[in-house]
Amino acid sequence: MANTTIFSKIIAGEIPTEFVYQDDFCVCIRDIAPQAPTHLLIVPKKPISTLANAGAEDQALLGHLLLKAGDIARQLGVGDAFRLVINNGAGAGQTVFHLHIHLLANKKFTEGNLGM
Ligand code: 5GP
Repeated sequence: MANTTIFSKIIAGEIPTEFVYQDDFCVCIRDIAPQAPTHLLIVPKKPISTLANAGAEDQALLGHLLLKAGDIARQLGVGDAFRLVINNGAGAGQTVFHLHIHLLANKKFTEGNLGM
């Protein structure tokens, strides 16, 4: 059975959401509850539930997501000061079980502080 989450509904256009970026493989949306002045989510169109559930066949897709995160950060003008976060599993704070990368920026990140 397909992994249906709020993100698959957004990707399918069932929930109107502005796409900051999209291509054949992913979308980028603004987080509904931002933890930083800039808080985006980069979401693959393929509904992989968690990073740990990605397989060897997802290697190119995972690389694509990271490269797009860098491109989007450049386009936003946040330069080299941004943080990417992937929560894997409920115990690590994952609440939507459709893989996504948080892109956080325009916030003062304390050195060594991995909190969001
Ligand atoms: P997680 O906790 O799974 O790593 O992150 C899920 C993120 O999705 C949270 O930061 C939450 O605010 C965001 N989120 C949940 N529902 C929606 C929604 O309907 N629209 C958007 N844009 N973000 C959402």
